[in-house]
Amino acid sequence: MTRAILPGSTIGVLGSGQLGRMLALAARTMGYRVHTFSPAEDTPTGQVADKEIQADYTDLDAIRAFATGVHVVTFEFENVTTEAADAVAEIVPVRPSGSALHITQQRAREKAFLALHGFPVTPSAAVHTLDDLAEALGHVGTPAIVKTAAFGYDGKGQHRLASIEDAERVWGLIGHQDAVVERVVDFSHELSVVAARGLDAEFAHFGAIENVHRHHILDLSVSPARIDPQIASEAVQITHAIMEELSYVGVLCVEFFLTTQGRLLVNEIAPRPHNSGHLTVDACVTSQFEQQVRAVCGLPLGSTMQMRPAAMVNLLGDLWADGEPDWAGALAIPDVKLHLYGKGSPQPGRKMGHLTAIADGVDIAAEKAIAARDLLT
Ligand code: AMP
Repeated sequence: MTRAILPGSTIGVLGSGQLGRMLALAARTMGYRVHTFSPAEDTPTGQVADKEIQADYTDLDAIRAFATGVHVVTFEFENVTTEAADAVAEIVPVRPSGSALHITQQRAREKAFLALHGFPVTPSAAVHTLDDLAEALGHVGTPAIVKTAAFGYDGKGQHRLASIEDAERVWGLIGHQDAVVERVVDFSHELSVVAARGLDAEFAHFGAIENVHRHHILDLSVSPARIDPQIASEAVQITHAIMEELSYVGVLCVEFFLTTQGRLLVNEIAPRPHNSGHLTVDACVTSQFEQQVRAVCGLPLGSTMQMRPAAMVNLLGDLWADGEPDWAGALAIPDVKLHLYGKGSPQPGRKMGHLTAIADGVDIAAEKAIAARDLLT
């Protein structure tokens, strides 16, 4: 086994948002130091890191200088160029690898990879021109969703299309970029599996988490998911097989649709911890962030045992519309935990924090989390 990167070492994080912040908090608990790299300053990660380096992701000299100061590099943001990942890899290990990142950071490539290896995916087509789009709609069918191929997240760069007549309008809306068009899936549930794979191929997962989105942004997650355990274990098996195929090292999330016909379809892969896994921080023996530290440092993975059913609700910037939310009001519910990311400007749709509630069952946990959020305004 390759030598582990032990506590006392420094973990480099490309990206500086809330995922890096929670990773840094877990890393520091374990005695690691953390450096973060991004174009921004006073960032969610930077506020809790040992060092915040401010430079552009395309500045390869700055990337190399960053890599020289750390023992391993991981990502909290997948839209980093492969050139940047390769530049780091010349100096220190990058986990997950640049090749895993390359596949998962672009929808069309990711879908092609999934289809090539026989994973169940939403019927879709890659499109480069308006003519392609019109033609693709012919076989994908309508209603459909057009998603920009690159750099999309949280529903950014996504537009629904009711019929083929909408093609021109939607093509304009996405700015004539390479895109993927897919049929709107009739689903009963959205699920995710957050899992880790170690350097020696050790695998650990947090089971199936059930997700509810609003306006294409995650709103509520509950764990365990309220589905047939057989489906949950199938979702875990698919996730494991994807990680094996990618020779993945680190934490990854696979998002699924469970169709009304009872079929699992992979929607997308996030090559990092995931918003739906935030509830592991309060509900599991090992959080998804501690697991990322362990995996990228070549240490044994921790127990993913969930101690209590849990629910998480996101806190978007919209909650600040009438001023600062009433934190004390929400915290009056004793088994609700508040997580804020230290972001300065609460714009609508921006993820500012989340609340996790723990209870004897997921329905009660969800009710508590939603009630606590309602108390904020
Ligand atoms: P994505 O960025 O692909 O994860 O999409 C964000 C959310 O939009 C998903 O979690 C779904 O709620 C919704 N969505 C995306 N694609 C589809 C689809 N093909 N059919 C139905 N809903 C979708």
